[in-house]
Order: sequence, then structure tokens, then C-alpha cells
Amino acid sequence: MRFSQLLLPTLKEDPAEAEVISHKLMLRGGFIRKLTAGVYSYLPLGLAAIRKVEQIVREEMNRAGAQELLLPMVQPADLWRESGRWEKYGPELLRFKDRHQRESCLGPTHEEVITDLVRMNIHSYRQLPVNLYQVQTKFRDEIRPRFGLMRGREFIMKDGYSFDLDEAGAELTYRKMYDAYQRIFSRCGLAFRAVEADTGTIGGSFSHEFMVLAATGEDVVVICQHCDYAANLEKATANPDEAGRSEAPKTLEKVATPGRKTVTEVCEFLQIPQENLVKTMIYLADGQPVAVLLRGDHEVQPVKLQNLLNAQEVELAEDDKILGLTGAPAGYLGPVGLKIPLVMDEAVAGMVNFVTGANESDQHLVNVNLERDFSPNHRGDIRMVNEDDRCPRCGGRLALTRGIEVGHIFKLGTNYSEALNATFLDDQGQSRHFVMGCFGIGVSRTVAAAIEQNHDRDGMIFPLPIAPFQVILLNLTPKDEVISAEAERLYQALTADGIEVLLDDRDERPGSKFKDADLIGIPIRLMVGKRFKNDGLLEIRTRADGQTSEATPAAAEAVIK
Ligand code: ATP
Ligand code: MG
Ligand code: MG
Ligand code: MG
Repeated sequence: MRFSQLLLPTLKEDPAEAEVISHKLMLRGGFIRKLTAGVYSYLPLGLAAIRKVEQIVREEMNRAGAQELLLPMVQPADLWRESGRWEKYGPELLRFKDRHQRESCLGPTHEEVITDLVRMNIHSYRQLPVNLYQVQTKFRDEIRPRFGLMRGREFIMKDGYSFDLDEAGAELTYRKMYDAYQRIFSRCGLAFRAVEADTGTIGGSFSHEFMVLAATGEDVVVICQHCDYAANLEKATANPDEAGRSEAPKTLEKVATPGRKTVTEVCEFLQIPQENLVKTMIYLADGQPVAVLLRGDHEVQPVKLQNLLNAQEVELAEDDKILGLTGAPAGYLGPVGLKIPLVMDEAVAGMVNFVTGANESDQHLVNVNLERDFSPNHRGDIRMVNEDDRCPRCGGRLALTRGIEVGHIFKLGTNYSEALNATFLDDQGQSRHFVMGCFGIGVSRTVAAAIEQNHDRDGMIFPLPIAPFQVILLNLTPKDEVISAEAERLYQALTADGIEVLLDDRDERPGSKFKDADLIGIPIRLMVGKRFKNDGLLEIRTRADGQTSEATPAAAEAVIK
């Protein structure tokens, strides 16, 4: 593909509407454009990354013995009444009437439709087990669509449904899907973790979520330090918007004496036990507010930053103040008004004046007080991790981290087959209900999660397997015939070898080509410029580590292949 012909509208500035990095970068990189709240057009580059994830998903689902089909998006209310979910599902289900006044909805998930299909078409144990999946646009009328593809109203999901003879068969299918999901997210090149999960509205007896580990994740995950236990801390969030804050938080007047402070001294000053500072960063901005102590993995880009764990010491200036702890262990909070996770030691919660908000100046609420600013009702939603909270499996210590839910697998049992009376005849001629499972992957969210996990200040850093292109080939001097001829030759040769190459043939300055190449995160950058004309050498740069080397065209081609 040639850059000059591609719909790739990159932006120089961060769009104001975007709050999280994947959303910002996908807008800036020309991957997506918003049509209306939570509804996006996928531009060629965005779609290419989505298709990469889909391809991996399809290969692994097929390998695990599942079959692809495609179910309708418009679904009749009567089917949802049969399952009882027409009443239960709530406002996320977009309901409407057609011209004949028939009630319908847009599919947020497809348990009803698939169970109906199977009850009509599978009648004997001989046809079982069967595992069916689709890759499809889903619609959920999310209360607060945000973060671009992370939480859209319209989004792409792979959803699969299994039908087994009995519990043992369903267990086996579940394990197969668990393994397939491990392979899928490994192949996507992502750092992730399977965690035990709540079953939510879908219901069922057992479930795991697949979490891409990223500081910006909305979910808080507890991980045992000693065994492989990991679980989602659902509902570990409180929202200051809805929390009935009574008075505006004031700035805390706790002033530390200037000079070098050790970790111990800072902890004493804040009256918190040192062992509570799992990974602690202190954020010292010039002016005020001056210091925010954050716990957990955190990426902070303030004016001054010291990592206490590395530095062991922090320099406090004359007018520096320490405002307190943020409520989140992982530190990411998003701009004021977003859901702010509050997971902390009870001891800390009792004394602290929190700072909540984004890790940017003027984006904080300081001196936030748990009782005052978050209503007691919300307190019920806050799950504390105490010193003595231990792993339910081995009794080991628990750590907290953040994740983005990209996949979710459930054992549904006979919930839906009983509600819809979906049965088959077993080998004794007895009528039995199908034992079901259901398996989802947020395909579009996975692309966003990959960016949340892999980026730097210059842009996205795509893992090779899901990058929209593998190579970006820069023609640095399109006006030069020798350089252009070589760029063209390389483009043809690599493309003929099945490599996905984006040729930047635009009449732009090298600097702006470098910027765009970094922004869209293509793993390998190949440059043809003066160096080629003078010495016959190309430059190769890998996006992830910024390593640059020179090679002859033949050597470069060999490396890339
Ligand atoms: P969440 O907890 O984030 O609301 P969910 O638990 O409601 O997600 P599931 O019903 O488990 O979602 O759907 C399967 C997968 O679809 C999720 O694991 C997630 O990756 C994806 N997904 C769900 N809602 C959205 C959304 N609004 N936008 C993008 N992807 C989504
Ligand atoms: Mg949801
Ligand atoms: Mg969920
Ligand atoms: Mg889920």
C-alpha cells in the first residue's frame, strides 16, 4: 500500500475528546473516526489491525474444533422473553419496534439466538458436542461510552457458544477454550493474565477473564505472589460524579521540610507503613500542587519525577508539599470525574487525604476524603485489600495490578437450554438439556488494549503479529530518481514475498515521515535516502527499541524475510 493513496489522516495534536492513550493515538494515527457517542468508523489502518486479531482468533478457534457462522444482529423480543432477559438485561439492550410494531433488539450477545438455532437443528447426542462462533458487530448501549474502542457502544466481538452432552463434556470444552485463549493472546504478542471472574449478567457457574495487563485498565486484579491464583476485584470502583460529594476538596496544608528525604521519612511524614508502598512514585511538579504519592505501576509524565524505589531518596524543594496518596494502587486515574478505583489498605484509607485525578497538573482533586467525597453507599462498593487478606488457594500474599478485559469465558450449564427448552435425545433415548458454554473476545478492544500496553511518547508500538503493516518503507527523497527507483524496487520485492509494506511515497520532509511512522507504530522502518545514493546502504530501525542499523538492500531484505 502507498501512503499517498491511503486514507490515513494523521493529526499533529492530541484530540481534546480523548482521555486515554489508545484513543488519542488511534485518532491521531488515523485509525478511527467517531460518528457518534461510542460509535466509530474503522479506517484502513484500524481495520487492518482488527483483521489481524480476527485472523488469529479464527485460526485458534478452528484449531480447537469450533465452526464459524454468522448470526443476525436484529433479534426478536419474544426470544429474549423466553430466556427472561428482556426484563433482566436493562438499558444496555437497545430495543426498538419495527413498522409492524414488533419489538426487537440489537444483539449485545447471542445466547438466545444460538440456543434457538441449536434447539431447531440438533436433536441427537450423535451430533454433539458442537462449538459455534462468529465475529460480529455488537451493540450495547453503554451508559458511559468512552476511551474510543475500549468501551464503545458498537464494537466487534468474537462470541462462541458450545453445546455438550453432559457436565464432563462441557468441562473439557471449557478447558479447550481456555487453552485456545491462552494461545490467541500470546500470539497477539500481549502480556496478559487469565483471572477468575464474576459472571455478571450472562450468568453461569464458572468463568475466567483474560486481562491485558496495563496501568490504564479499568479492572483491578489481585494476583497471588506465591501460586498461580489471580482474580478480578469487580466493583472495586467508586465514581466521584455519582458519589454525592458535598464540598469541594481543599488543598491539604501538610508541608514537608525541604531537603533530601528517604523513603522512610516520606512514609513517616504521611503516616503510612513503608511496606504499603509496593512500587511508589513521587510526583513533584513545580508550583502547586506539588507532590502526589502514587502507588503501584504508574507512568507519570510530570515536570519532576522520582521513583522512590529506585532512588530511595527524594529531594524536596522549599515550597514542595506532599499532598497525600492517590486512591489507586496502579496510579492511573484518568481525568477528574471518571471512575476512580479505590483499592487500598484499610489503615491507609483511614488516614489519607487522597489526590484523585489524572497524572497531569490541574487535573487533580486534592484532599479528597473517602467518607466526605465518596458516599458511604459507595463505600460498600469498595473492596479493601487488607494486610491479612490472603490468597484463598495457598494463603500467600496478594498483590494488585490493573487489567483490560479482552476475553471472557463462561460455563453456562443448562441455564439457557432449560429456559428455551433446548433438548436432545441421549443414547438411551432420554431427552436432555444441552450443557452450554460461552466464550467472548473483544476484538476491537484488543487492538486498543495492545496500544495501552505498548506505546511511548512518539506513538503506538505494535506487536508484530497484529500490526497493520509489518514494514514501513520510507522514500526519503521522492524527487530523486535513484532513491525512488530503489524504494519502488524494494516495495515490489518485499510485497511479492508476502510482506505487508506501507510505502511512504509522499512528497513530505523526512522529519514528518519519521513522525508519522513512529505514530502508527509499524514494527520495522526501512529508509531509502541519501545514504543509499552515496554508499548503497539502507537504514533499518525497529520501532520497539529504536535500534537503528545500516545494511545493503540484499542484507536488509534477507533480515526482513
Ligand atoms: P466490561 O466488563 O468491560 O463491560 P463485559 O464483561 O460486559 O465487559 P462480556 O459480556 O464479557 O463483556 O463480553 C465479552 C468481551 O467483549 C469482553 O471481554 C470485552 O473484551 C468485550 N467488550 C464488552 N463490552 C465492550 C465494549 N463496550 N466495547 C468494546 N469491547 C467490549
Ligand atoms: Mg459490560
Ligand atoms: Mg466484565
Ligand atoms: Mg465480561
